[in-house]
Amino acid sequence: MALVTTEGIVLKTHALGDTSRIVSVYTRDHGLRKFVAKGARRTPSRFGYALEPLSRSRFVFYMKPDRDLHLLSKAEVLDAVGSRLTELSRLAHAQASLELVDRLIWGEEPHARLYALLMQALTGCEEAPVGALPAVTLAFQLQLASELGYRPRLDQCAVDGEPVSQRRAFSPTRGGLLCDRCAAHEGGVVFLSPEALASLALLLSRPVLEAGEYVELPRAGELLRVIEDFFRMHFQRFQGLRSLEVLRVLEAPEAPEPERGPER
Ligand SMILES: [Zn+2]
Repeated sequence: MALVTTEGIVLKTHALGDTSRIVSVYTRDHGLRKFVAKGARRTPSRFGYALEPLSRSRFVFYMKPDRDLHLLSKAEVLDAVGSRLTELSRLAHAQASLELVDRLIWGEEPHARLYALLMQALTGCEEAPVGALPAVTLAFQLQLASELGYRPRLDQCAVDGEPVSQRRAFSPTRGGLLCDRCAAHEGGVVFLSPEALASLALLLSRPVLEAGEYVELPRAGELLRVIEDFFRMHFQRFQGLRSLEVLRVLEAPEAPEPERGPER
């Protein structure tokens, strides 16, 4: 049983018994790991802010091969990202990034580019203008999918490699643009606006932090729906981003008061 040190970003925690916690962490060097933090629910906890979701922390743990849970020895916070995200929209988008990693990544293989991508997304959620947050989340979703081998195909028909349709026919099922012939036979095709397609190409290729510069909010709404369909088709474990649902509810126009009969 080796004592291992790594840094990682806390995705979520669960209570374990009366005093302990199970902590899911996306680590830089050991992929996704679950730690048992004994005594973490006592107040004050010896772990402080290190186990809070969104924190980037240094972890020392006993690594047991072939086990799902590892005993945490020490944890020390390096950057308490969550403590600075005081606006609800920033917090919701940052949590959406954690949710995506928790859903789509498993296993203990390290993936340095994914780890860096998650850090960029969290920085984006802190620093980007509030109006650019949907674009940051979109860029993170698209680039995460690309790293996992599901980069949307935009340069040629995703089915047969023919030149793509001038109508910008995107198939979430096929994972990219289609030619005219394939578009005619495929269900669920979405015809993108020229601006949305241009944004999509930029979001795939440019740094996540700059995403707000390419996509205006109305386009982000169009793209978020298409990309969500794409994710549902290709990642069984993806069930939509629950963290963003609270924002949708808050941003929806207020429902009119229901008509009521006279008081009795
Ligand atoms: Zn085709």
